[in-house]
Amino acid sequence: MELNKKTIIVTGASSGIGKAAASLFAAEGAQVVLGARRAGNLEIVAERVKSAGGEAAWLAGDVREHGYAQALVDLAIGKFGKLDGAFNNAGAVGAMTPVPDMDVANWNDVIATNLTSAFLAAKAQIPVMTAHGGGSIVFTSSFVGYSNGGLPGMAAYAASKAGLVGLAQSLGSEHAAANVRVNALLPGGTVTPAGGEGNPDVLAFVSGLHPMKRMASPTEIAQAALFLLSDRSTFMTGSPMLVDGGMSVRLT
Ligand code: NAP
Repeated sequence: MELNKKTIIVTGASSGIGKAAASLFAAEGAQVVLGARRAGNLEIVAERVKSAGGEAAWLAGDVREHGYAQALVDLAIGKFGKLDGAFNNAGAVGAMTPVPDMDVANWNDVIATNLTSAFLAAKAQIPVMTAHGGGSIVFTSSFVGYSNGGLPGMAAYAASKAGLVGLAQSLGSEHAAANVRVNALLPGGTVTPAGGEGNPDVLAFVSGLHPMKRMASPTEIAQAALFLLSDRSTFMTGSPMLVDGGMSVRLT
């Protein structure tokens, strides 16, 4: 039980990596607090956790809205009395287009969904973690925007995900003395709806980018998040942790 009785917020829990994380964390003893916009999906994920003997609460909302991060923290405190960790994982790719053709609205939306949401989450989560002796925050960044991840048409996404590394570094430094750790998890291509699931051409292209010649399963990425949220990683903060099938050491 790597997360025994730890209360953990998971955003993006309606699909893909977040959905896999919800089940994995609960199986490792966590009380999970699930967030995303699709209430029906969250309810199904929460019921699956409960029927497997775990504990879950959920609240549908939009991570771009300023009150939502605080509402998830309030739910964690109201239901479980504390907050030990957060997997701030919700994200979206946005429109894929070269910058000269990119709408400002798309830029703003991708930054709000992927980066400003993390700022809002940390702002709401850190005070309660500090008050209870510490905690662990994980942002889902990406290989895109980091080493070997300069894919054309993905400038807004890349900038938002690179921004999460800088945010984790600053927060890691700011709150280390309070025992609040903040790390960025950088997955390689992962088989989820956002990662091209159901589209064989996309899956083949992205698999081919990786030295391992395959993509990750959502659970493989969730396992890395589990490590960062657990007491196995107590000397890690401000780190960009690559879980990318060797993408960063790709030669061509
Ligand atoms: P996914 O299956 O499409 O899941 C994305 C999740 O984010 C969904 O649960 C979605 O929920 C939530 N979300 C998106 N916009 C939201 C908003 N405005 N408010 C609240 N929730 C929102 O994709 P995934 O691959 O699991 O993505 C999870 C994270 O991994 C993302 O940050 C993504 O950028 C990152 N990532 C993915 C890959 C990959 O290859 N798949 C690689 C590197 C990094 P609702 O639609 O219900 O709101």
